[in-house]
Amino acid sequence: MSDQSAGRNGYRTRTNLVRGGLDRSNFQETCEAVFATSGYVYANAEEAEAAFKGENTKFVYSRFSNPTVAMFEKRMALAEGMEACRATASGMAAVFASLACMLRAGDRLVASRALFGSCLYVVSEILPRYGIEVVLVDGADIGQWEKALAGGVRAAFLETPSNPGLEVIDLPAVAELVHKAGGRLVVDNVFASPVLQKPQALGADIVVYSATKHIDGQGRVLGGAILGDPEYMEDHLRMFLRHTGPALSPFNAWILLKGLETLDLRMRAMCDSAERIAARLEARGTLPRVVYPGLASHPQHALAARQMSGFGTVVGFEVPKGKAGAFRFLNALRLIDISNNLGDAKSLVTHPATTTHQRLSEEERNHLGITAGYVRLSVGLEDPEDIIKDIDQALAAAAG
Ligand SMILES: *Cc1c(COP(=O)(O)O)cnc(C)c1O
Repeated sequence: MSDQSAGRNGYRTRTNLVRGGLDRSNFQETCEAVFATSGYVYANAEEAEAAFKGENTKFVYSRFSNPTVAMFEKRMALAEGMEACRATASGMAAVFASLACMLRAGDRLVASRALFGSCLYVVSEILPRYGIEVVLVDGADIGQWEKALAGGVRAAFLETPSNPGLEVIDLPAVAELVHKAGGRLVVDNVFASPVLQKPQALGADIVVYSATKHIDGQGRVLGGAILGDPEYMEDHLRMFLRHTGPALSPFNAWILLKGLETLDLRMRAMCDSAERIAARLEARGTLPRVVYPGLASHPQHALAARQMSGFGTVVGFEVPKGKAGAFRFLNALRLIDISNNLGDAKSLVTHPATTTHQRLSEEERNHLGITAGYVRLSVGLEDPEDIIKDIDQALAAAAG
């Protein structure tokens, strides 16, 4: 399942996740150092002047850049196989900055409707306030993209697989349409991580992450990342980040560097478990719906097999008897925790209709597959048999 492609430095993803961007100080430490500093000093006034003119590579201020954060950015870029990366304080800061830095009043943004709740809020509530025209489409329907993009576009935004409905979108097909319309395609790759899917190789221009999810993967810190081509980074993103300030803290960057070192191992173990759990849940024959891109019953299973090297760590399923059944199931779990986070070493379950997607109307939720009985399970690193045992007893309790 592991990605076998070589990165820009000739090393493969697994190697870059462990060593990419490592920049040792004169102490020759094994582990990356935490440079807990907001600022930097100058040998003389001339050096400070040159630094502000961009004539030397000195660090100037940690809102702009920091050595520990820079290591994280370089490691992300190498693991993703992209030229440049900028880190942010959270995934939402990354999503907002990636779009806001290049959009201006009068521009059009086309986005898929199946988005994480906060992403949907940014594109449908915040950006229109600044005069940006936003068109939402059903992401799996290429005809809708074609129609929406016919009027030209500055940027398109999508998640694949989507949160929490696990819809898979055809990246090469959408990228081609976006480019024909004159825009850039921004892909939120949180559910796949750089281990399972490389959106740029499939046509995307910009890739964004919530590093809070699989990249940390141990529930410790918030973080985000934006990857793009040098032109986008220089012309749009650099000054936007520098002057609006959603900077990642050096300590959080250090945690995320450590997270990247085990990302491939964790993703593989969690995907294996998720596949096994999805198959077992479907085999029960008692659940109205089991959603996992790795199941042959998933509507975009063939597409997922083409564009991903693994099917992900999240499984969705519908518990019988709607919200009451789903709540009885959640409350009966003994091992799996109720939490809206995902990608964690601990298995976590959430009821999207009453949490992350409660702002949507019932009609909108049903359209996205977020029915009253739908639960989202983020499969962790526990023994999969213990996870299955916990689900079995909780489903029995919910039915009783
Ligand atoms: C969690 C998440 C985000 C937001 O990330 P934060 O780090 O929580 O700000 C964005 N997109 C997707 C798909 C997510 O799951």
